[in-house]
Amino acid sequence: MLRQAVEAQGVCVELNARSAAIAGADAVTGLRLADGRVLPADIIVMACGVRPSSQLARAAGLAVDRGVVVDDGLATSDPDIFAIGECAEHRGTCYGIVAPAYEQARVLARRLAGEDARYEGSTVATNLKVSGVFVFSAGDIGPGGEDIVLADAGLGLYRRLVVRDGRLAGAVLYGDTADGPFYLDLITNRTPIADMRADLAFGPPVREAA
Ligand SMILES: Cc1cc2nc3c(=O)[nH]c(=O)nc-3n(C[C@H](O)[C@H](O)[C@H](O)COP(=O)(O)OP(=O)(O)OC[C@H]3O[C@@H](n4cnc5c(N)ncnc54)[C@H](O)[C@@H]3O)c2cc1C
Repeated sequence: MLRQAVEAQGVCVELNARSAAIAGADAVTGLRLADGRVLPADIIVMACGVRPSSQLARAAGLAVDRGVVVDDGLATSDPDIFAIGECAEHRGTCYGIVAPAYEQARVLARRLAGEDARYEGSTVATNLKVSGVFVFSAGDIGPGGEDIVLADAGLGLYRRLVVRDGRLAGAVLYGDTADGPFYLDLITNRTPIADMRADLAFGPPVREAA
């Protein structure tokens, strides 16, 4: 459904295509794929994630991997130095949006005030902001859970909820993403969903009206 909607806007989608080289001698002329095909191009835009600027931390002798490595107390390898935000790497993850940075800031503020607060990672929600195509994704949507799927191709609606150990672990919404924050709350708070499972796929408004 997403592919059809994006292609209807004139965007060509190549799935399972591994880029091998940029073609062109003096200027880019295309992108060569691993299967030998060349996609013609005047410009190539690469989305390659977050790369923290960590020279200062490295020069100071702090442990740096992808980012400045911090523990659950947001302390670096020097217990008197803390790191939060995009430069920090917590449990192997460098976050690239502001919400985790705010959560880290709250935890660190409480720790600096003497509380035993701990940061255990953030559940990241992604909203696709392509005009006319609404997609929301949050949590762990990989295989291995129990899927609750609601799909209506005619209306352009799809939602998949992933349940693990009686809790909502992840959610993908396509078409109507208004219930995204509701599902994100359930995921973040690890709310048991046994008593709401029967109509969970319909989101909060139907459940409250029932
Ligand atoms: C184009 C763009 C669009 C984005 N859109 C979104 C969005 O829609 N939603 C979202 O959630 N996030 C978005 N982000 C990501 C968001 O901006 C970052 O996650 C957030 O700014 C990270 O905050 P931070 O405080 O960790 O780092 P930064 O905001 O990068 O702040 C770090 C600061 O440290 C300063 N600094 C660096 N080195 C030194 C030094 N040696 N000495 C002193 N100061 C130094 C820098 O100048 C900078 O001011 C976007 C980012 C970009 C680039």
